[in-house]
Amino acid sequence: MQDCLFCKIVKREIPADIVFEDDEVLAFNDINPQAPTHILVIPKRHIATLNDIEEPDQALVGKLPRVAARLAAERGFADAGYRVVMNCNDQGGQTVYHVHMHLMGGRRFTWPAG
Ligand code: AMP
Ligand code: ZN
Repeated sequence: MQDCLFCKIVKREIPADIVFEDDEVLAFNDINPQAPTHILVIPKRHIATLNDIEEPDQALVGKLPRVAARLAAERGFADAGYRVVMNCNDQGGQTVYHVHMHLMGGRRFTWPAG
């Protein structure tokens, strides 16, 4: 996807503070952090929204929470707890249309969120 911000980060066309990478997944610090740790975990392959995940994508998307949990463990807050969020479309608060999982940790979260 030529105009996708996160595809450009994958291709290193725009900079990001990358904290994890493998052949299928990239993770980088959110530019506008909502917690002491706020990382975005994305599939390298472009999938626009949760609604666009198809059967063959399941294993790839399933890697996102595993990478998030690993990053949480590395940062020492896996046992204390953390929050992951995936926003879908306008009313869900999605602003970048490339599937991503927010990993937020290092503070207490309340529920329900606003
Ligand atoms: P969402 O609103 O769920 O689509 O989340 C998009 C997230 O991407 C927001 O938390 C933004 O702060 C973050 N973001 C936007 N541009 C960048 C960027 N260039 N590098 C890192 N994070 C970004
Ligand atoms: Zn993309």
